[in-house]
Amino acid sequence: MGSNLGDRQIFISYGIKRLSRIKDSGIGAFSGLYATEPVGVQDRTPFLNMVVKFHTSITVDALLDHLQRIEKDAGRTDAQRKKSRVLDMDILFFDDDIITREDLVVPHPEVHNRRFMLEPLAEIAGDLVHPVKKKKIKKLLEECPKTHWVKRL
Ligand code: ADP
Ligand code: MG
Repeated sequence: MGSNLGDRQIFISYGIKRLSRIKDSGIGAFSGLYATEPVGVQDRTPFLNMVVKFHTSITVDALLDHLQRIEKDAGRTDAQRKKSRVLDMDILFFDDDIITREDLVVPHPEVHNRRFMLEPLAEIAGDLVHPVKKKKIKKLLEECPKTHWVKRL
């Protein structure tokens, strides 16, 4: 999850609250909250980022639908694509599934390049093996260049 517009902490909390209400599911772990340098975004406001482990029996498509609905309900508009946004909720991994569709790529195609994803992820899933890279998260983090700053709050 990420937010760099408006009351960022409130939007992250809102995302968590909505996740916790998805049926046949539950949050298994939370990373800490991180302030991170915006990547690929014009606005210089730092993002708040957090990763959660989510147990669910719904399909990945149903999960994506939920996340998009939650983003929208938080007030995210299409104009906020690829830039500042009140709430962004991405699927980083879904079991060991490898999905390469136009509307969904899992593992997230940038996860190994983004310390703002890897650092929180390493906190709760350091031993998770990336099914494409075949490396643990903690290894990917070691190898990831420090192109942007990431600070645990
Ligand atoms: P980004 O998250 O890269 O900043 P957006 O949130 O604006 O960009 O992009 C949303 C689109 O990305 C959605 O329409 C969704 O279909 C697509 N998408 C592809 N892979 C994923 C993923 N792993 N998690 C979430 N959305 C994804
Ligand atoms: Mg997104």
